[in-house]
Amino acid sequence: MKVLKYIEPRRVEIRELERPSIQAGEVLVQLHACGVCATDVKTFMRGHPHIKPGTVLGHEMTGIIAESQAEGWQIGERVVVAPYVPCEDCRYCARGQFTLCEKLFEAYAEPGGFSEFLRVPQRIVQKGLFRLPAEIDFALGSLVEPIACSYHGLEALRLGRNDSFLIIGDGPMGLIQAILAREFGASPVVLAGLTPSRLELAAQFADRVIDVSKQNLRDEIKTLTNDAGIDKVMVSVGQAQVAEDALALVRRGGVVNLFAGLPSSSRISVDPGRIHYDQVTLIGTFGFAHTHFALALRALMHNPSDFAQLITATVRLDGLEKAFIDSAQYAGIKTVAILA
Ligand SMILES: [Zn+2]
Ligand SMILES: [Zn+2]
Repeated sequence: MKVLKYIEPRRVEIRELERPSIQAGEVLVQLHACGVCATDVKTFMRGHPHIKPGTVLGHEMTGIIAESQAEGWQIGERVVVAPYVPCEDCRYCARGQFTLCEKLFEAYAEPGGFSEFLRVPQRIVQKGLFRLPAEIDFALGSLVEPIACSYHGLEALRLGRNDSFLIIGDGPMGLIQAILAREFGASPVVLAGLTPSRLELAAQFADRVIDVSKQNLRDEIKTLTNDAGIDKVMVSVGQAQVAEDALALVRRGGVVNLFAGLPSSSRISVDPGRIHYDQVTLIGTFGFAHTHFALALRALMHNPSDFAQLITATVRLDGLEKAFIDSAQYAGIKTVAILA
């Protein structure tokens, strides 16, 4: 079978690998689609502290079961596969803090998403394998993973009905969050970004779009909220300065989520008065739990047409290298690799 291997920063190669064999409790999935994620792009461009050369990238995976040794799963079923699931056994899982699971990445789907076939280990079969309904095509189904991450982020913010909500960032995650926020009943939903084409699309999902290259974000939020500040803020851009700005935009008692990862060398400076007197809460979320995966699939089924607009390009395995380079330059929104 063919896979796309990450060799070193700026270098990927299509290689031939032996098709993985499965054991009791496992399934083999013939992959049909895998989304290109910011993590894949970052790894390709600059390397990644946890992703070793030789890895097969890609983790937003859908396909058809080609072999099954798992009860209840038949050959020919269309599925979406979570790349990891918690153990439900460690001290964090016992507290429901699944994304902190000590063994989160111990069971992983092999070799990775940019591959023709995928071995799904038993733990993922049990908690992270979901049937993809006929009305959701494989490319669209690959959005379940990023939607799940966003769901986790919104849930942690306790985003509620009539909360004013600001998303900073017009990447795929920011746009997904704008679509989801409406489902959560947030109002108004405001999205701030820099890329005209993305903001144009965002205007379909958000009540208000702010182009920070032309408008002053702080002034806009002041006007919009009669000086009170915004209830909940999602920082979906990995920049320390933006995280600091977010803390100035949130209302007293509001919540800010550092959703995007920041470079490990970054530091932010926080006015403690905002935390103490203004009782602002600063949180962060990473990844998703299997529980969010199920909710994300439901959200996608509820509103497939909005989410479908986020897929702006599809490529084959040999088109991924260019897709990584294009994504790094903010071209389009979401690219999905079609694998079968
Ligand atoms: Zn992803
Ligand atoms: Zn655990």
